[in-house]
Amino acid sequence: MIQSLNPATGKLLRSFDPLTPEALNAKLALAASAARTYPNESLDQRIFWMRRLAALLDADLEELAATMTAEMGKTLASARAEVAKCASVCRYYAEHAARILTPEPIATEHAEAYVRYDPLGVILAVMPWNFPLWQVFRFAAPALMAGNVGLLKHASNVPQCALAIEALIRRAGFPRGTFQTLLIESRQVEGLLSDDRVAAVTVTGSEAAGRAIAAQAGWLIKKTVLELGGSDPFIVLPSADLDAAISNAIKARCINNGQSCIAAKRFLVHETIYPEFEKRFVAGMAALRIGDPTLDTTDIGPLATAQIVDELLEQVTRARESGGRVLTGGSRAVNVEGGKYGNYFQPTVIAGIMRNAPICQEEIFGPVALLFRIGSLSEAIALANDTPFGLAASAWTTDDAEQHRLAAELQCGAVFFNTPVASDPRLPFGGVKRSGYGRELSTAGMREFLNAKTVVVAGPLRETQPSLFDPPTSQPHSDKPSEFQQIADQLRKFEPRKASIPASESLTPEPRNKEIDKPTDRDPDDDPPPARGSILGLR
Ligand code: NAP
Repeated sequence: MIQSLNPATGKLLRSFDPLTPEALNAKLALAASAARTYPNESLDQRIFWMRRLAALLDADLEELAATMTAEMGKTLASARAEVAKCASVCRYYAEHAARILTPEPIATEHAEAYVRYDPLGVILAVMPWNFPLWQVFRFAAPALMAGNVGLLKHASNVPQCALAIEALIRRAGFPRGTFQTLLIESRQVEGLLSDDRVAAVTVTGSEAAGRAIAAQAGWLIKKTVLELGGSDPFIVLPSADLDAAISNAIKARCINNGQSCIAAKRFLVHETIYPEFEKRFVAGMAALRIGDPTLDTTDIGPLATAQIVDELLEQVTRARESGGRVLTGGSRAVNVEGGKYGNYFQPTVIAGIMRNAPICQEEIFGPVALLFRIGSLSEAIALANDTPFGLAASAWTTDDAEQHRLAAELQCGAVFFNTPVASDPRLPFGGVKRSGYGRELSTAGMREFLNAKTVVVAGPLRETQPSLFDPPTSQPHSDKPSEFQQIADQLRKFEPRKASIPASESLTPEPRNKEIDKPTDRDPDDDPPPARGSILGLR
């Protein structure tokens, strides 16, 4: 049974039976069928649907935010921001897909050589509950723009969010089968992944989930992207603006009630500023208001499940046993105003823990900060890297030389200076070490699930390889335009982008209307066969 349970109240909101093997097979068949036809939809058409999806997210923002808050306890304010960010990633890929999908000419001794980007087909997305919409949209937007088809196995505690995402994508107009939510349990993933109709898998979640799925995918030789846990350092050096560093340290630890992969988890502070930092950081953490996540006055809502609270308590106990001093918090929050249920945890700061303690090698997924005093930049870098994870780091220094060393020597997927780590559709996102591999977002993210296909046409060398977005300056030696030239001609019409996007498709939210709400009933099987011009699916 898949249950939607409100972590602020303990109330069962809804429950669902997992899909039967027959129902799952039918959805897989539909996905496979869509994967054959959907890539032939013109890029213009896909852009239109993607922009409609963004507009629907804007229009349904309140309802979607409320669903997230009800299912996993994030504050309503952060849930609203998450919906808006999903709309932004849709718009980003609507705007940039043509550029990212453009074949790349390569100068060789041949008449023509280029790389084209083709969709892989059905991509399985195994997703976590902590950002129930954002995690899915940052996969779905580039996948759908590229001509891939998505199957979502969402975390079992956010089934209503999962169904809402599928409904939105359908309402935007994407053809049947291009994106489906599968209400299944994690044990059903193995069978699904082994099905030949699934081409690749992306996993965002714990190390354990990533390891299990990647092991199987490796054996099956299927492409994988893994976005796993993190234990990000937050490094504060003497030149930092201490006010900004402290207020952002509190936010960076407690974002999403402390349940974010890129939340700062270890705070490494230079000894010259440590006493001041510790005093004010602890006071700031202690002052956070815990409570009903639907209230604007709440800073920290309940943790998503009772199990997470138990795990945190156990980690705090072990931290104490390893010499840690609890400076504030350290236990469940009880008597929380507006929330009588037990999933609340006090914002906690622990200092003085032994650096070789096993807890220092773990991810702490809740509002618990480990504080370390460091004497030098080299010590900060060594301690920051002394973790199995390598997702990201935030460092606070205005010194160019320090920034240069930190950027070069920190073992992680992103380094942010004088600002907390954040995902952004324009920037690659992902980790190294046991935080996973592969990237999401930006150009790099979209290309993870594309086949970079090399094409070489032998023959007399052309004078110049064509540039896709410049008017042709040289004539091919043959009268017949090359395949590359045909693709270039098709793509050129998408630049500049504004020309093909109506002004009404701007950032202004679109009101909900019948046209948008009407599901598209076209069956993928009714689609015309691929046309000659559908090279790359970019007719
Ligand atoms: P999780 O327990 O690993 O669950 C994530 C997803 O994997 C869920 O859909 C879950 O399904 C499924 N799953 C778990 N074990 C599986 C298995 N053996 N085989 C197949 N599927 C399996 O993680 P979570 O508690 O939801 O999320 C928290 C973790 O995600 C943290 O470690 C966090 O750092 C990480 N995370 C990473 C990123 C990133 O971008 N790097 C972003 C967000 C979160 P069920 O719910 O049905 O078990």
